[in-house]
Amino acid sequence: MGSADPAGMAAAEVAVRPIANCPCCGTAVTRTLYRAPSIPVHSCILVDSAKEACALPRRDLELAYCDACGFVFNHAFDGAVMSYSTNFEESQHFSGTFNSFAKELAREIAQRCALAGKDVLEIGCGKGEFLRELCSVGKSTGLGIDPGYRADEGRCVEGDNVHFITDFFEPYKHLSADVIVCRHTLEHIASVADFVRSIREMFGARDDAWVVFETPDVKRVLGEGAFWDIYYEHCSYFSPGAHARLFRQEGFEVTDLALVYDDQYIVQYAKPACGRSVQRLPLEQDLEEMHALALRFPERVKKIRDEWRERLRSAWEGGRRVVLWGGGSKGVSFLTTLGLKDEIAAVVDVNPFKQGKYMPGTGHPIISPRALVGEPPDWVVVMNSIYVDEIASTLRALGLEPEISAVGPRLEG
Ligand SMILES: [Zn+2]
Repeated sequence: MGSADPAGMAAAEVAVRPIANCPCCGTAVTRTLYRAPSIPVHSCILVDSAKEACALPRRDLELAYCDACGFVFNHAFDGAVMSYSTNFEESQHFSGTFNSFAKELAREIAQRCALAGKDVLEIGCGKGEFLRELCSVGKSTGLGIDPGYRADEGRCVEGDNVHFITDFFEPYKHLSADVIVCRHTLEHIASVADFVRSIREMFGARDDAWVVFETPDVKRVLGEGAFWDIYYEHCSYFSPGAHARLFRQEGFEVTDLALVYDDQYIVQYAKPACGRSVQRLPLEQDLEEMHALALRFPERVKKIRDEWRERLRSAWEGGRRVVLWGGGSKGVSFLTTLGLKDEIAAVVDVNPFKQGKYMPGTGHPIISPRALVGEPPDWVVVMNSIYVDEIASTLRALGLEPEISAVGPRLEG
């Protein structure tokens, strides 16, 4: 590793001896794709000062790739350092774009799983917005479990039919449910096969139950060199095929597999089956494509990183006021991976619980869109291209017309 590019690797490295066993399929893994040394272990934590934000614990991330099943994971992950608590803010439900997507998905799940009158368990329910929506449209009862659940006044009203437990899932494996929903949680779990197995065990001999998972797609991350989508909390990275292979291996029949939200997320429906089931969906056949993406990723991500560093440095040298839009994990990863400081004046976030706080790792202040009026930005860099239209109209309504760019493929052109 050169000092000018501490996070970089010129090419995928193959170790002589195995570096780890694949947490999905158990195969000995020898290939590493990416390194991000000393990154903050929490990127959704709320901190009250820049100093505190910069002093948060850090660890190394090193992505390994399993040639056998296409799974990508941080083999240097240290689960003991993760302390999820209610002082986290991961909700995306303050965005209209995200809310429409979540509502549509809730309707789809309600229909496909014939939810009426059924018990739904959501593992990793966050602040519970989705479960409430799901049980409302599905006319079902719900239990949400999440160590970060917090009953905020005005947003987390418990109805008669929806209840929450602020805890990890582990102690509640004995519970039963007709439908298990698990969104944006599997990527936070290191022992993924054990986790899926314990869900399968909850159903026993039942074959009328459903599990619905939503997980980020790593194929897009690899293809775009999207380093901002790689951060410490995410220790497990799936392609649609790797996702389905894991569930089939652990005794589920995967009935539907799709890419949604501008192809950013995998949505998978599955039912309990007897033993290992057989691959049969088109999106599952991605192993060759994954091999090619994995091989090219180190070079691709280096190029994208160098381009962004250069653009931001020259904007700063030119005296342009640049703000980042998106104070979540992508923003934290973008800032810490590029080693940005003065180049970015502030980070905007529409979530009021984040405003007035500081970005973990770098200490950039998080401000409301309205706060831009006093000090108008010249350039807004958006951390997720799907929000560009929504952000542009928010800025116009504030009388602001900065240049707007988004990370990802739409940037070019
Ligand atoms: Zn594997």
